[in-house]
Amino acid sequence: MSDKISVLLSEDEVAKKLDDLASVINRDYEGKCIHLVGILKGSVFFSCELAKRLTIPVTMDFMSVSSYGNSTKSSGVVKIIKDLDEPLQDRDVLIVEDIVDTGRTLSYLMKVLKDRRPASMRLCCMLDKPERRITDVKADYVCFNIPDEFVVGFGLDYAQKYRNLPYIGVLQPEETE
Ligand code: 5GP
Repeated sequence: MSDKISVLLSEDEVAKKLDDLASVINRDYEGKCIHLVGILKGSVFFSCELAKRLTIPVTMDFMSVSSYGNSTKSSGVVKIIKDLDEPLQDRDVLIVEDIVDTGRTLSYLMKVLKDRRPASMRLCCMLDKPERRITDVKADYVCFNIPDEFVVGFGLDYAQKYRNLPYIGVLQPEETE
């Protein structure tokens, strides 16, 4: 049976928001080189689309942490699966994440990355589900606040599928008889 997905944020809406976000970041980091740290795999599309719109000097690195596996619920267990290739020391780091839900993943990750002594560290998220937060994680840049629904597309998956959707959609729960 195929999954039902309804559009929450269209390709155009996401592109417009990315333009706006990039202008703000270009202004905030004027005169600096920004080091984008994308969290795999969900932030790949967002990181690249954002980077393409930045006019300040940009370097990029990626790391991978464990997430929900094949489920739609957080396990609460965070594990670094692939670490960064380069040190963060003295760099102006912008962590680029697909979505903040409970905040558990980023709460852990930001502590680990702060210990590497970047010159500055900020957090940029494509989506935020503020009502789900159980930690004090707060993003410096957010594209969209969304309700408590499980979303896919623009990098976000369900069981590794749907990352390639050019829009963000809500995955409808399967109907039970
Ligand atoms: P948190 O630790 O904040 O609870 O969860 C963060 C991670 O859970 C995200 O990076 C993402 O991988 C996953 N996640 C949270 N909400 C969603 C969602 O609605 N859809 C998808 N596909 N992943 C989500």
